[in-house]
Amino acid sequence: KDFKSDQEVRWCPGCGDYVVLNTVQSFLPTLGLKRENIVFVSGIGCSSRFPYYLNTYGMHSIHGRAPAIATGLATTRPDLSVWVVTGDGDALSIGGNHLIHALRRNVNIKILLFNNRIYGLTKGQYSPTSDPGTITKSTPMGSVDTPFNPISLALGAEASFVGRALDSDKKGLTEVLTAAAQHRGSALVEIYQNCPIFNDGAFDVLKDKDEAAHRIIPLRAGEPIRFGPEGEYGVVPNRWGGFEIAKVAEVGESELIVHDPAIEDTAYAFGLSRIGDQHLNHTPTGIFRQVSRPTYDDQARAQVEQARSAKPADLQALLTGKDTWTVD
Ligand code: SF4
Repeated sequence: KDFKSDQEVRWCPGCGDYVVLNTVQSFLPTLGLKRENIVFVSGIGCSSRFPYYLNTYGMHSIHGRAPAIATGLATTRPDLSVWVVTGDGDALSIGGNHLIHALRRNVNIKILLFNNRIYGLTKGQYSPTSDPGTITKSTPMGSVDTPFNPISLALGAEASFVGRALDSDKKGLTEVLTAAAQHRGSALVEIYQNCPIFNDGAFDVLKDKDEAAHRIIPLRAGEPIRFGPEGEYGVVPNRWGGFEIAKVAEVGESELIVHDPAIEDTAYAFGLSRIGDQHLNHTPTGIFRQVSRPTYDDQARAQVEQARSAKPADLQALLTGKDTWTVD
């Protein structure tokens, strides 16, 4: 199946969005779904042009509100695979509230968060993920904001699936997207995406082979968490209940954490998310958390069905907790 639309793609030359689009277009056929059963809902921003370029249903919706629209779709149409495409400005600033509540509710939607650490569409203002000190048109003396860590934020909102990948890493991104698609519930996938016009090279240290070996910490379920050109570094518990980096030769292999994204306690995945810092010195990639819990849409539909099939007398008791109607 061809998931490319006939629309001309209108991103700047070299934009990381092209690579993500290409990966999504190649990955969608593997889901075995009909095009008409897939919907991409976006907000406002460069990445939010995404739905135009896919030969599926799509909606270029309201700034920050894509999760709300997707919630309605997922709840009323369980036959659809519902995806949200959003950016760091759209999702974490004006849409912050919608994002955290969609994750908290565990609505069956998949959220792709394109994080380029800048507002691209409005031509280069700092965003909620920009580095402190970033000089932009709206922060001429440097940003004084503390940025969000989107992975930590999602975990704090009880997200049942949280992953991260690089725009340029087609294999890694495909793996995370595939797992997200198969997950029942809200999935947040943060994608580090280069904006060559307003924040070029923000993730270059993770794309240089030698640098990446020292910085990227691949999370593989069932395997000890280690990295480095020779796998000489690993992740171990620290005294505050989180994790830190250690030399394997000094602590011993048996001390390394064996990654398990199915751990229920969010403290585990949260601890992994805090290993990384804004300067990308250490950057875990892959799936941080993937746990099973009831979805909002399944439960809402079950309640509607229960109310629909109830006899009038039972319905009164169901909706009011009383045997007879009363007027307050
Ligand atoms: Fe891509 Fe940046 Fe251009 Fe937007 S402004 S299309 S993010 S390169």
